[in-house]
Amino acid sequence: MSGKDLISGNVSYDGGRLTFAGMDVGKIADEYGTPAYLYDENRIVDNCRMYKRAMKESFGEGSLPAYAGKAAAFGYMYKIMSREGMAADLVSIGELYTASAAGFDMKNAYFHGNAKTDEEISEALRLGVGCFVVDNPDELSVLDDMARKRGINQKILLRITPGIDPHTYEAVSTGKVDSKFGVPIATGQAAEFVKSALAAPNLTLIGYHCHVGSLVFDTESSVYTDAARIMLDFSRDMRELVGYAPEYISLGGGYGVRYVNSDPQVDIPKNIERLAEFMKCHSAEIGLPMPKVITEPGRSIVADAGMTVYTVGSVKNVKGYKTYVAVDGGMTDNPRYALYRSSYTVVPAIESDEKMICDVVGKCCESGDIIQPGVSLPASTRRGDRIAVLTTGAYNYSMASNYNRIPRPPVVMIKDGETTLAVRRETPADVAALDLMI
Ligand SMILES: *Cc1c(COP(=O)(O)O)cnc(C)c1O
Repeated sequence: MSGKDLISGNVSYDGGRLTFAGMDVGKIADEYGTPAYLYDENRIVDNCRMYKRAMKESFGEGSLPAYAGKAAAFGYMYKIMSREGMAADLVSIGELYTASAAGFDMKNAYFHGNAKTDEEISEALRLGVGCFVVDNPDELSVLDDMARKRGINQKILLRITPGIDPHTYEAVSTGKVDSKFGVPIATGQAAEFVKSALAAPNLTLIGYHCHVGSLVFDTESSVYTDAARIMLDFSRDMRELVGYAPEYISLGGGYGVRYVNSDPQVDIPKNIERLAEFMKCHSAEIGLPMPKVITEPGRSIVADAGMTVYTVGSVKNVKGYKTYVAVDGGMTDNPRYALYRSSYTVVPAIESDEKMICDVVGKCCESGDIIQPGVSLPASTRRGDRIAVLTTGAYNYSMASNYNRIPRPPVVMIKDGETTLAVRRETPADVAALDLMI
């Protein structure tokens, strides 16, 4: 298997042994055990810098990327985001806690969510979150009230539903008119939402937010230009109606990444450049001052910086049907095939020419516990061998569960030939730690 078959430049074989970020994957597995999530720290940093540079060059000062923490949220990750000067999206009390415990500057945080609880709102206000992305009128009135009680004025963006179907998977599409997220333009409700926000004495409206969905591979970037056009036109209409023009427009996240060789490579800086050209041109056409722009990349910051390494537990050939290679993890550490039929590239820790086709499955009590069907692995694969799943940096650790009371794997960071444990492996006692043994 040649380097270019391995999805991203940080994965290759050296003398037949799999390497990630320049280090021997088998050796890391020996040291930390399996399953384990590995992260290439330099790749995360490079991806952050690529976004920061592209946003600045294309949109100018004041426009910025905010890392969507839900893709992979743990203390070490927020430390990287702090060092890189990234803003961040947070969506729950747990993410608020993690970011703030890691020393992330809450002024650079955007607090999202379509059903924020009173406790979360109050905690976000206490921590001094820079901006709330208000999803609905219920939240707007509670937030205004809580800000008044604290004697503060809170900056907000309003989540607007542009009415776009990005033609990705149903479960990750969020911009359609009947989405559970945001307030739609098409029904006239978004205009009312803006009026209410402007009338709220303890809130300062700084602009609009939309997010059309995830896994946008659209290389012509028409999903984003369509969303931008709708948001700019809405801004013009609101300026005419109530005299308010947004300082910021956030266009959400969503660029796709390569999971398998047939996935296209998205040229993100080029896409951002085209988007900026379009927005400047369209703003001028409709006589709207060009707003500052926020993007919210999650997957495209961390996905290709991640890999999961497993140990094979059994190889089962069902004569005349198929071969199963079962590993010591599964849908508990990577539920994405079970949820979305997501594609992944699976490779052995030791290269070999003679291949077999097999389904790589997990150890959970579910037939749907499949990591990836139809994988090519060495015909010699047996119990005890290591295999790795590539591009698992996004929505794997953050979606992990304790189903079957399986302890969650550790997160190991790799940087310049050194490894650091960022999240330790859960123990069986951790899994039972909240049980009241009465
Ligand atoms: C999920 C999400 C993102 C990040 O999406 P990616 O596909 O990971 O880039 C950004 N913004 C919002 C509001 C989201 O819900």
